[in-house]
This record gives sequence, C-alpha cells and structure tokens, in this order.
Amino acid sequence: MPLAPKFIVKRVAMRYVAGSEMSDAIMTMHELSAEGACFTVDVLGEEISSMDEASYFHEEYSRLLDAIQEHGLNANISIKPTAFGLLINRESAYSNIESITRKAQKLGSFVRLDMEDSRVTQETIDVMLAMHSKGLTNIGVVLQGRLYRTESDIDSVCSSLGDKSDFRICKGIYLESEDIAHTKYSKIVEATNAAVTSMLERGAYTAIASHDIPVIEHALAELRSRGMTDGESTGLEKKGPGYEFQFLLGVRGDVRRDLASKGHLTRVYVPYGTRWYEYGIRRLRENPEVASHVVKALLMPWTNRR
Ligand code: FAD
Repeated sequence: MPLAPKFIVKRVAMRYVAGSEMSDAIMTMHELSAEGACFTVDVLGEEISSMDEASYFHEEYSRLLDAIQEHGLNANISIKPTAFGLLINRESAYSNIESITRKAQKLGSFVRLDMEDSRVTQETIDVMLAMHSKGLTNIGVVLQGRLYRTESDIDSVCSSLGDKSDFRICKGIYLESEDIAHTKYSKIVEATNAAVTSMLERGAYTAIASHDIPVIEHALAELRSRGMTDGESTGLEKKGPGYEFQFLLGVRGDVRRDLASKGHLTRVYVPYGTRWYEYGIRRLRENPEVASHVVKALLMPWTNRR
C-alpha cells in the first residue's frame, strides 16, 4: 500500500479527512450537523520525535477548542497522547494534556484519549486517571476489544471512577501479537461485544465505535434490554449510563444516518491536518475494500457521499 501512487492515496484520504486546515473541519461539521450528528475532531499526527512538535499539537488543539465554541458546534476533541510527547517527555506530555483538558473543561467540552498501540495502553489509561484525580472529569479513554486485557481495564477504570467512567469501545486498529490480543475476526467481534456489555453493565458512558453490523446490532440489543433507547450527550453533567454510536468520517454514513433517524446519538470522528497521506494509507491498509470506493469516486464523483 505504501507504493500506491500519491494521487490515489489523496483520493482515498479526501473521503476520510476533512481537509488540511481547521476551516475544512469546521465546514465539514457544519455540513454534517444537518444530519443530526455531533463530532469529535482529531488533528492528524501521531508519535512525534521532538517536543517542538508537541507544542504544535497543543496550540492547534487550543485554537480548535476556541473555534468549536465560536461556531457553536456540538463537538469535542480526540487526542493522541504520543502526539503530546508521552514517549519522549512524560512530565511535559502530562502537563500539555492537562492544560488542554482544563481549557476544554472551562468551555464545557470533552477530551477523548485515542488509544494507540499496546506500548502505551497502560500509560494512556494512567493519563486519564491522573486527570480525573485533578478534578478534570471531562476526559475519557478508548479501549480496544481485541486486547485480552480490556475486560480487566473496564473493571479497574470503573472501580476507580464509578459513574464518571466514559469509554469509547472499538475493535482496535493496531495489529497486536496473539500473546496479548485476539487475531481472528470472530473472536475480535465476540470480545468487542462482551466489552460493550460490561461497560453498560457497569453503568459507564459507552461510545460504540464500530461500522460492523454485528457489533452495532449487539449494542442495540443490549441497550433495548436495559431500556436505554435514547442517546445522551457526553456533556459534563451527563456522565453515567448513556451511550452513543461513533463513526469515522466517510465510513458507512448510511448506517449512521439510519441510527440518527431512530433517535440514537451519533458522533462523527473528523480528522484534519496536513498528515492526510499517512491517514489515507492507514485506511487503505485497514480495508482494501476502500479501493472500490476510490474507483467509484474517480468514475462517478457524485456517488462519493460521506
Ligand atoms: P470492520 O469489520 O473493519 O468494518 C465493518 C464494515 O465497515 C466493513 O466491511 C466495511 O464495509 C466498512 N468499513 C470499515 N472500515 C472502512 C473504511 N475504512 N472504509 C470504508 N468502509 C469501511 N482504533 C484504535 O485502535 N484506537 C482508537 O482510538 C480508535 N478510534 C476510533 C474511533 C472511531 C469513531 C471509530 C469508528 C473507529 C476507531 N478505531 C480506533 C478503529 C477501530 O478500532 C477499527 O479498526 C475500525 O473501526 C474498523 O473496525 P469496524 O468495527 O468498523 O469493523
């Protein structure tokens, strides 16, 4: 996939990325607001090599929080701890994340810590717990169904944070070794579904981030059996039992719109930034089916609806 011509990757990326600039993300959110969705915004980029780069992310996210407020958008932010320097200078990374989370709290917003590969699973959970211990309860973490440890992570986070626990649950995009993770599709689905059940069981706010129908159907059945038919926002006052469905920008918009039309809260993950090439490659690697979207987009551009 890294050998794919850049113009092809760009075609792919433009379906999944709002654009290179913050203004592109704002425009995309204005467009999709009409479909009843709310948002979480990601500034593209991951592990960095110097703390100067961390300053860039800190400033960009700070500007982003202001822009969200200014435009009256129903959006929060998703950040990657390694982009804030977690693997270079732990102390600075914590202080950068704290400052962004504090700013988000003042603005009534929420911070989601994206989950990266297994090198930083515990560290990422620890960052979240550390912020809560400072009274910053407007932060939640992502857990990955494919990891064996996830059930015990749900247990320990819920034991520490009680009804302030707020998870995004996904299958996990990083291909981990079979010593620590399920590697077969059916097992990953089974484990992700079990994690959804455990989160709801423990009364945690549960954001189901999957485009896979068996996962969505399982979540719907669990929600129905608990009488939780209405979504609740991740607003600060609304922690505890609640849920939402999350989708990546450009993926299965039809399923998202259908859920929204039935009254479920849906959130779109909106990435923007100049690192669209890496993100496009990741989407291609993850799902070679994407290639068919590209051909369609090239031949029939009007069908390329997000
Ligand atoms: P799949 O079985 O992969 O997909 C089901 C179907 O959806 C496919 O058959 C296809 O029709 C469609 N589909 C899926 N992906 C695409 C695509 N790229 N293009 C077109 N169609 C597609 N992972 C992490 O490790 N950490 C995170 O923090 C994280 N955050 C996420 C946030 C959101 C909002 C979402 C939706 C996913 C996130 N992920 C994250 C990725 C996730 O872990 C999975 O890798 C990804 O969602 C694919 O799994 P799936 O459950 O959608 O099922």
